Amino acid sequence: MIAAADELDDLKRRHARDIQELHAENARKERELEEGRNALRELGDDLARERDTVRALKNALSEQSNAHILLKTQFTTLETKCDALSSEGQAQLNSKAKLTADLQAAKARAEELENELMEAESLRRKLHNQIQELKGNIRVFCRVRPALGTLPDSHEQNSSSGLASINFPDKREHKEIVISNTTETAMGYTRDTILPFSFDRVFEPRSSQHEVFEEISHLVQSCIDGYNICIFAYGQTGSGKSFTMEGGQTEDTRGMIPRAVRHVFQVAQQLQKKGWSYRMEGQFLEIYNETIVDLLGKGNDGKHEIKHDKNGRTSVTDVVVYPLRSPDQVQNLLNLAQSRRTVHATLMNERSSRSHSVFTLRIIGTNDASGETSEGCLNLVDLAGSERLKESGASSDKDRLKETQAINKSLSALGDVIAALGEKGSMGDKHIPYRNSKLTYLLQNSLSGNSKTLMFVNVSPLSSSLGESICSLRFATKVNNTTLGTAKKQTARLS
Ligand code: ADP
Ligand code: MG
Repeated sequence: MIAAADELDDLKRRHARDIQELHAENARKERELEEGRNALRELGDDLARERDTVRALKNALSEQSNAHILLKTQFTTLETKCDALSSEGQAQLNSKAKLTADLQAAKARAEELENELMEAESLRRKLHNQIQELKGNIRVFCRVRPALGTLPDSHEQNSSSGLASINFPDKREHKEIVISNTTETAMGYTRDTILPFSFDRVFEPRSSQHEVFEEISHLVQSCIDGYNICIFAYGQTGSGKSFTMEGGQTEDTRGMIPRAVRHVFQVAQQLQKKGWSYRMEGQFLEIYNETIVDLLGKGNDGKHEIKHDKNGRTSVTDVVVYPLRSPDQVQNLLNLAQSRRTVHATLMNERSSRSHSVFTLRIIGTNDASGETSEGCLNLVDLAGSERLKESGASSDKDRLKETQAINKSLSALGDVIAALGEKGSMGDKHIPYRNSKLTYLLQNSLSGNSKTLMFVNVSPLSSSLGESICSLRFATKVNNTTLGTAKKQTARLS
């Protein structure tokens, strides 16, 4: 029993010990379990973090792959473009080669055309000259000025009886002018006479400066081509000579001188393309009492002498010759001449109507391409008033008498020269009396040979001027008949 009790005690002790151990074991297991749980929690957290990372990486990856696709597409596009460009480059190289060839061909053609143009220009000059010759180397235009009714101090238009009866029946060609004149016979009857005149062109009072210039621009062209030209304005004082030649200060009223200069500059510029370059010089002289006065000079005139050289060039000693670089300069020259005349006018009344003024434009052209040269002179002459003045009687006014004789002498010398030139045209060589007046001597080279002359006969519309107008028209008719002779002869030769 004791042994059994001992054994039981022992068993009890062992059991208690086992239980203790089991408790300890249990506690250890529980600690381990707790630790395991903790570790598991940490692992869970780790896992969640890793998952996030993975998700982020996945996103990044998908973005990158999208970007990659985009880049790839762009790359392909660029590659295509590059291919296109390179083939385009090749095409351009090819077309450049073609263009170079074309250019060369065009250059050759241009040179050819330029040569043709130059030849055509020479031909045009010849033809232009032939046409001018056919029209007659001497031409007469008649211009009737308007009644000055628009001017405030003018009375010309106030009564119709103050105006002469002048008609222009030729509405198509504008070549005729008819004057109706009522005269009283010795018996006291009135008699109507009708006087028709015809000229190369008749300008009615309403004709503008522009229209008149249109008709003379061909002559100005001839001058650029190297021919000498004289344009005269003939008529009594107050008939519109100075208005025709110099004109007013406005664009519309500018006269033939400034218009001619402007035209010369324009044409010269156009001819630059054909290889021509031009130099222009202007000179403005007055012939008063058979003495030359330089209207552009400084005053205190010395003696001026006319010289003709072997090449048909005329010069006057000690006169100012202005190089003209722009057409506007000419207005300054006209104004300068005007102021010079005014100085004289205070010394001598109405000086400008008692003297001739000669504006000369010299045009010197050279063509470097063809080697041609040309030189032409354009003379625009405002003649002294043609009114007939009594030479007898006024012996107290010797100066006036001298002036009158000088004017009569020079105007009739001009008529004689033109008449002799006309006769020379039909009969061959003939003496031309250039030396009979300073005017004709000065213009000798511009009246002779292949030169062209145009005379404006200016007519006043007033009935008080009728007698003078008829005289002017008769003088002009004589000149005009000279023209017809030349023109007819040329036509006959052609046909
Ligand atoms: P001339 O020089 O023959 O003595 P002008 O040219 O001085 O004559 O003309 C006399 C007047 O008539 C001037 O006042 C001028 O302005 C004027 N005159 C002349 N012709 C015309 C015209 N066609 N149109 C307008 N006025 C003119
Ligand atoms: Mg005048």
